[in-house]
Amino acid sequence: MTDLTPTTDDQHARVVVIGAGQAGLSVAYHLRRLGLEPGTDLVVLDRAPSTGGAWQFRWEALRLGSAHRVHDLPGMRAMGLAFEDADRSRPARDVVGAYYRRFEEHYGLRVRRPVAVTSVTRTTGGLCVATRTADGHEGRIHAEVVVNASGTWGTPFVPWYPGRDTFAGRQLDTTEYRSAAEFQDQDVVVVGGGTSAIGFLLELDGVARSTRWFTRRPMTWSDTSALDLESAVAAVDEQDRAARAGEVLPSIVSGTGVPVSRRIRAGLDRGVLRDERVFARIEPSGVVTADGEHVHADAIVWATGFRADLRHLAPLHLRTAKGGVVVADGRSAEEPRLFLAGYGPQASTIGANRAGRLIARQVMDELAAS
Ligand code: FAD
Repeated sequence: MTDLTPTTDDQHARVVVIGAGQAGLSVAYHLRRLGLEPGTDLVVLDRAPSTGGAWQFRWEALRLGSAHRVHDLPGMRAMGLAFEDADRSRPARDVVGAYYRRFEEHYGLRVRRPVAVTSVTRTTGGLCVATRTADGHEGRIHAEVVVNASGTWGTPFVPWYPGRDTFAGRQLDTTEYRSAAEFQDQDVVVVGGGTSAIGFLLELDGVARSTRWFTRRPMTWSDTSALDLESAVAAVDEQDRAARAGEVLPSIVSGTGVPVSRRIRAGLDRGVLRDERVFARIEPSGVVTADGEHVHADAIVWATGFRADLRHLAPLHLRTAKGGVVVADGRSAEEPRLFLAGYGPQASTIGANRAGRLIARQVMDELAAS
């Protein structure tokens, strides 16, 4: 059952997990198996109102498996649940939200929500997690170890282009996109080379008056072959290298190419998915391409990715001069009582699952040593 009790002023826990998405739930599941008691030893916090992690906020038309596979949480099979059997005619946000709810209830994880973590600071015995509930109630939880699993949805990344602030139409990012109906009979420019951009273009086709698609680099499409597996492994390795070096994490899709599903194939054949190199500047009425064409736009949709949402960790001063955080095997190099689940090579539902086991073991070792 979801525990709706707001945090009171000062509490103690052995481990606090920040975020109940795939990464946070996976870590919590393994910590419980290793003997921590949810609700007392182990406190899981999430600022969102419901179950599902970031999935609960995704747009209506998004379906499970439309681009990538969503992996089961560890322990889901034992409950007789599998995403493979999920209803693909329903929005992914509803399906994932319902599955995660059953998972949390089955394993008694007692996630507290909506409770936002506003900061994490060092104390003599560990870390202090400051919290705020939706009604403004503030609290602090003193923990020996913190596992941050806050994902990226809270920090969409929108690049700067000359004239961006002069655009007279609507600009929105992936987190603000709801449905194509909002763009009925409009000229829409979509920016970005990931699966979100592709999903928007396919949904806008036949609803918007026109769409144009701009990406920084030419799109690479991939069929499911051995080569793709290799490039996926290489992309995860590159994430790992960047995380260990404290660099800003690269985009995963730029390393792997986008798999061509039947729906994408149809979009390519219809000419809906024709990528052009990104425009040179933005004007009040649209964008101007590198060769000087003015493209009229009522709206610009920035599907340009995300950054790790680590704002609440700012007091720990983890950022390097290279703009990232040094993380090796899910653990902060700067603050050994802090783990980052779902970060870098662990981003993706399968990576998040691996993070659960890897991090839970290290957390238990840290607790035993302290
Ligand atoms: P999230 O699901 O984002 O969970 C983080 C949680 O932390 C949230 O519930 C949030 O409320 C909470 N939180 C954040 N900050 C705080 C705070 N300060 N205090 C309290 N709580 C906080 N991956 C796949 O493997 N397959 C796919 O098909 C796939 N499709 C995707 C489609 C889109 C459009 C996007 C953007 C991503 C997709 N991904 C997919 C990547 C996917 O998001 C990850 O694989 C995975 O679900 C992320 O899990 P997470 O636990 O790291 O983050």
